[in-house]
Amino acid sequence: MDEPMRVSVDPKACAGSAFCQQISPDLFRVDETGVAQVLLPEVPPHLANLAHEAEDTCPTNAIAVTE
Ligand code: SF4
Repeated sequence: MDEPMRVSVDPKACAGSAFCQQISPDLFRVDETGVAQVLLPEVPPHLANLAHEAEDTCPTNAIAVTE
């Protein structure tokens, strides 16, 4: 059986720019400390493209997608 795609944020690398939240508020939320939290660590298939887009867009390369 296939492993689900997973997404994570390195809190030390995150600069709080919130691009990820703009791309997918279902996957990411920047908390009150200015660090992006992952809302769905196991990425549902319909959000896979947005997870990759966020990974590519993050200015500090804080987002990692594994599949
Ligand atoms: S796009 Fe990157 S730096 Fe910006 S809030 Fe999201 S994880 Fe943090």
